[in-house]
Amino acid sequence: MKHNYQAPRGTVDIYGDELACWQQVEDVFRQFMHLYDYSEMRTPIFEDTGVFKRENDSSDMVNKEMYTFTVNNKDSLTLRPEGTAGVIRSYVQHKLFALGEGHNKFWYFGPMFRYERPQKGRQRQFYQFGVENLCEKSPYVDAEVIAMGYSILKALGLNHIKVLLNTLGDAASREAYRTTLREYFKPYLDQMCGDCQRRYEQNVLRLLDCKIDHDQPFMNDVPSIRDVLSEESRAYFESVCATLDALDIPYEIDDRLVRGLDYYTDTVFEVISTDEASGAQSTVFGGGRYDNLVDYFGGPQQSGIGFAMGMERLMILANAEGVFEDMQSPLDCYIMTLGNTQQMGVVLATQLRAAGYRVEMNFGKRSMKSQFKSVERFNASTVLIVGEDEIANNTVTLKRVKDQLQVSIPMDQLVETMDEWLMDTEEHHHE
Ligand code: ATP
Ligand code: MG
Repeated sequence: MKHNYQAPRGTVDIYGDELACWQQVEDVFRQFMHLYDYSEMRTPIFEDTGVFKRENDSSDMVNKEMYTFTVNNKDSLTLRPEGTAGVIRSYVQHKLFALGEGHNKFWYFGPMFRYERPQKGRQRQFYQFGVENLCEKSPYVDAEVIAMGYSILKALGLNHIKVLLNTLGDAASREAYRTTLREYFKPYLDQMCGDCQRRYEQNVLRLLDCKIDHDQPFMNDVPSIRDVLSEESRAYFESVCATLDALDIPYEIDDRLVRGLDYYTDTVFEVISTDEASGAQSTVFGGGRYDNLVDYFGGPQQSGIGFAMGMERLMILANAEGVFEDMQSPLDCYIMTLGNTQQMGVVLATQLRAAGYRVEMNFGKRSMKSQFKSVERFNASTVLIVGEDEIANNTVTLKRVKDQLQVSIPMDQLVETMDEWLMDTEEHHHE
């Protein structure tokens, strides 16, 4: 019996050229993380549900989008919907805060899971690249983190992007702002969506990024938090802005930006695409500072800042901007085996690979003509022809594709000849 399955709704398989493009982008992430001295952290794909579902959290992600399950009636577990909580949980569990310098800047890359309505740039399993910076709380750190994320996109060749910036201030400023917002929104309560009516009580800040009420007229004159910001928070925010100016990072202040998660304090930001290829899902990455997460997980009172970048959205934009045009990665050598010569073919392929050459060979019973098709398909720089006569004479025939130069050489001079032909030329694809 045959069984027919497809990847679950909202998930995709990544392979072939597309995967090669992903790996190019992942390499750029790694290079940046090396330059900025962040270290990678790999945390579990699932965590105790409480790691994500913190008391009183009002976000959609926590309340509607989580894959939560129990096994054998044990404690509740949840597939991670985001990376920050797991990294901070781990940071505290292993008391990395006690080590300080050299152990407080992390990055991660991996799948996240959210039960959402799938559409372009929105999946149920998607990948995020993210960073968490737990050195001192400083506006210069905030600006550096934002600028780093922006530079990664620039380095990838994305040009149509912009930074949106806001502050949520300190606890006192936020409390004052909540009061202002409740007063402001009160007359419009009956015109709001059900979620917003609930959010009005639980976390009125959430009203600002409601996707349903987004275009209601009463959303136009919402008071800005900057009217009620404490002196300290104002100075902090101004410093972030001034440092972004000094770093030449273009940004816009967006009063309505509050971000989708409840744990943010002070600086919040998003980088959005202005390219129409991004469709409705234009946010490439977002993040902010969090003063209370380390403390929540039982660590010291210590602040951090981070962002998370959606890989699929990034890839949509990168493809639209033609970042990956030159993807073909050619072979150094294709080994043609004619007659009963495959065993020798395997031996020679292994020798060449040990010398650093990228090699494919023919294992089938195929004609010379058909094998030359493979040479073309793989875009090989050289062809090694192994025939029965050649083996009898202890020789092989090596052909250079670009000028059709063909030589018959003793088998033990194969690597030497390849070195002569390919070493230090663009055609040698091994590093
Ligand atoms: P949105 O408002 O688009 O739902 P969000 O505020 O929920 O985004 P974050 O939690 O800040 O998103 O996640 C950071 C980034 O991860 C987003 O900017 C986006 O690029 C990506 N992302 C979030 N959810 C998804 C998803 N379901 N599918 C693909 N990428 C996603
Ligand atoms: Mg979301």
